[in-house]
Amino acid sequence: AEEVGGGDKEVVREYFNNTGFQRWKKIYGETDDVNRVQLDIRIGHAKTVENAILMLTDEGSLKGVSVCDAGCGTGSLAIPLAKEGAVVTATDISAAMVAEAEKQAREELLTGQDELSPTVVMPKFEVKDLESLDGKYDTVVCLDVLIHYPQSKADGMIAHLASLADNRLILSFAPKTFYYDLLKRVGELFPGPSKATRAYLHAEADVERALRKVGWKIRKKGLITTQFYFSRLIEAVPA
Ligand code: SAM
Repeated sequence: AEEVGGGDKEVVREYFNNTGFQRWKKIYGETDDVNRVQLDIRIGHAKTVENAILMLTDEGSLKGVSVCDAGCGTGSLAIPLAKEGAVVTATDISAAMVAEAEKQAREELLTGQDELSPTVVMPKFEVKDLESLDGKYDTVVCLDVLIHYPQSKADGMIAHLASLADNRLILSFAPKTFYYDLLKRVGELFPGPSKATRAYLHAEADVERALRKVGWKIRKKGLITTQFYFSRLIEAVPA
């Protein structure tokens, strides 16, 4: 099997088809059976999605713009992008995630008559890992997925995603700051039953260097923090 950092890609796939699927579906959902930490992460993640949409719509309407949402999870970003008129391809390594995203997209995008509004294109959902993505898109987005890649693998992943994008790459990752590092270490001292697979943090300078190597530069950035959620959001463009 191919390696994803210290672990194995199979481990990540298995996690997001089972325990991880249940855990993240709940966090990304709307039900109130979440604990305080999960609720905090839900709020932080929603802000990341909101900020990513602001970055995406800043340059003008998304109508007819092709967007690849790599590692789409339950469709938190893919579905609102479709509502904005974007032509979305949404993929994830986990079949459970893709099935859930498809279900939510039908619920949110189809009317009672099983019809789409004329300005909406149903996203194309596919079970696919990032490495096997191909094609060309105006924009590629990859939110909160880099956490599964150590920096050594992240470089190649960033280069690959940039190669699929004509104009923009939007990425979010857990920033390697002292405080968050500390928090992670504290977390590792108390592994709970549904502890996530190993998490990797990234220094902004490392991500920037990986982009520069393939001729891209950071144009905009944002930082989303709540008590337990930290995410650096960047928009990169060809330099
Ligand atoms: N991007 C989504 C969002 O922000 O709502 C989901 C984020 S979730 C924390 C991480 C997602 O990345 C999971 O759905 C997982 O299955 C997916 N993932 C992890 N490794 C992947 C890989 N190598 N290729 C594709 N997807 C992957």
